[in-house]
Amino acid sequence: MAGFVPLKKNQQLELSDGQIITVTDKLGEGGQGIVYRVQYDTGEERALKWFFIDLIKEPRKFYNRLRDNIKKGSPSEAFLWPEQLTEYVDGETFGYTMKIFPKSYKSFSRYLLAKVDFKDKASMINAALNMVSAFKALHLKGCNYQDLNDGNFSINPESGKVLICDNDNVVGYKQYSGILGKARYMAPEVVRGDKQPEVDTDRYSLAVILFMLLIRSHPLEGRGTNFPVLTNKYDLRIFGTNPLFIFDENDSSNAPHPMIHINALNRWKLFPSFVQDAFQQSFSQESLLQGKNRLLENEWFNILVRLKSSIVRCPHCAKEIFLESDRSTACPYCKNSIKAAGYLNFPKRANRSVTVPIFKNAVLYDYHMNSSSNDFETERAVVLEKPGKFGLRNDSADKWLVTAPDGRTFIRQPGDIQLLVPDCEINFGKCSAQVIVNN
Ligand SMILES: [Zn+2]
Repeated sequence: MAGFVPLKKNQQLELSDGQIITVTDKLGEGGQGIVYRVQYDTGEERALKWFFIDLIKEPRKFYNRLRDNIKKGSPSEAFLWPEQLTEYVDGETFGYTMKIFPKSYKSFSRYLLAKVDFKDKASMINAALNMVSAFKALHLKGCNYQDLNDGNFSINPESGKVLICDNDNVVGYKQYSGILGKARYMAPEVVRGDKQPEVDTDRYSLAVILFMLLIRSHPLEGRGTNFPVLTNKYDLRIFGTNPLFIFDENDSSNAPHPMIHINALNRWKLFPSFVQDAFQQSFSQESLLQGKNRLLENEWFNILVRLKSSIVRCPHCAKEIFLESDRSTACPYCKNSIKAAGYLNFPKRANRSVTVPIFKNAVLYDYHMNSSSNDFETERAVVLEKPGKFGLRNDSADKWLVTAPDGRTFIRQPGDIQLLVPDCEINFGKCSAQVIVNN
């Protein structure tokens, strides 16, 4: 065995489709290999992941799996999917090409270390929604993850667009790559060795990633797990045999420590009850020990769009906050209590409530206009306030049909403003909502 041989500048390699690429630069190095910048004859550039072949258990099998994934195609734009394999070099070493990471994307781990932050709350929620959509696309393609970790994701802090790299260990259902993820992201049953990674264990990992993205701490690392050195024995206990959510409703023995887990304590308070409930369900003892009640991607999607539409500015301190629809919200920054006048109530989606608080500048997206739309970015309506009353401006291209409580109907054209009076119903075309007034 010749073993691993790094590539040299100007070295040429043949891809499995017969094209020739030239190595121009080194882009980076990770646990599995080196990433080079390469160029086609046409001048087009790609990244080439070149594997530390000695570290791969069954290289031929690995090569074939990559080839299968290339054939299958990328689940969505969010994946930096393998494009072409190289031919074997020296009979055993190989790599694959993929698109080059744009500089505007920052590694998720840098957000966790507070080295980068999002432009605003909407871009952070966009990132969460994009992660959920990527997982859904992967599962629809019949694949699941095996080695999720915070090095897999890069996020644009302005747009919240997500890119997922290191897709080498994505496999089809019922297959097993032999590579386990990092314990912190693995479902407890995988850590315990009871199960191999599959869609349902990916769903647990998704909840961990969403928690880390929003709360910037780990859901199972609290005062009860604050060991001086984390060894495999402790890993097994914390993430496998004795996992306990730091915000468990019935057991506070792993609650955040006020001096150590400051992020967890400060950021948990930022989120409305329906997001806290979703995490409590995701990390309940039933979920951790029996794999029950984990949220589906569609459930997270609807919860997160609701969260995005709850972004308003505190009237006292002008900071962005998430406002509850049907109850008071204590501003996490100035502590004043704020309550929406009411809310727009839409039919449930994926059995999850869809509401928008009636509060100045709350935004409705294409998602709200059409019950089959998943567009959470195109703004279609905004709540406006005049002293003593609220209106909804039609920023869509469609007419709205409004039914007053007495049964009379009105048409609202694009650009019109509809007064939000109790019990009126607005039909947006492919979805309708009712105005509910808070007491
Ligand atoms: Zn405030």
